Amino acid sequence: MLQNFIFAKKTMQTNKIIIAIDGHSSCGKSTLSKQLAKKLKYNYIDTGAMYRAVTLYALRNKLIDNKQVDKNALINALPNINISFVYNEKDEKSDTLLNGENVENEIRNIAVSENVSPVATIKEVRQTMVALQQKMGTQKGIVMDGRDIGTVVFPEAELKIFMTASDKVRAQRRYDELFAKGIEVSFNDVLQNIKERDQIDSNREESPLQKAPDALVLDNSCLTREEQLDWVLQKVKEINHAH
Ligand code: C5P
Repeated sequence: MLQNFIFAKKTMQTNKIIIAIDGHSSCGKSTLSKQLAKKLKYNYIDTGAMYRAVTLYALRNKLIDNKQVDKNALINALPNINISFVYNEKDEKSDTLLNGENVENEIRNIAVSENVSPVATIKEVRQTMVALQQKMGTQKGIVMDGRDIGTVVFPEAELKIFMTASDKVRAQRRYDELFAKGIEVSFNDVLQNIKERDQIDSNREESPLQKAPDALVLDNSCLTREEQLDWVLQKVKEINHAH
């Protein structure tokens, strides 16, 4: 009996789920996802990094000119674009690889940020990324963040969070992050980029950014990182109890 109890308890603790985190640009999705993955010993997949890597490939191969994507050429090039992740022990996070090259820093630059949303509107690009993301989640025990995770990639995810914060708060956080990395940009350019990406992401035809009906809303404008982490961990606990 005691043995059964211990076994049941162990199963409950190791009951792995899928956590889907969607939301607007720069509202701290990746910060929260990384914290959650570390705490729960889950894998973390940053799907924005995948769209960014495709965009970097397109920029390098001159498939984008003045924010105009050569859609057909990019679709034809998709079989040549291999995206994967490698765990970086030092930073305790995954780095993005584009055809085997570590591009983690390069995909965060402003040229990529300015062109990624148009690239992410292309249906064939999305289909390729979504198929890859679904494959990564087959074992569960995953935290995935993006724009369409709870609606398209894992509509059956046990926990869905929709994150947001005011655009000024988000721009300030992004600006501080870039500044800390020594990247010089103006606050207004950062704010403009965030507004532009929100606008394209929310209004595109293909998998627009929207809250899944069963997602929990997390507005973190006035929350600390610790407070929001505790809030989500409590939800995970409740799900595990219910199971
Ligand atoms: O998350 P991050 O801001 O790095 O994402 C970069 C861009 O990739 C977003 O602005 C959005 O256009 C696109 N994206 C998407 N679907 C996802 C993740 C990101 O369309 N699941």
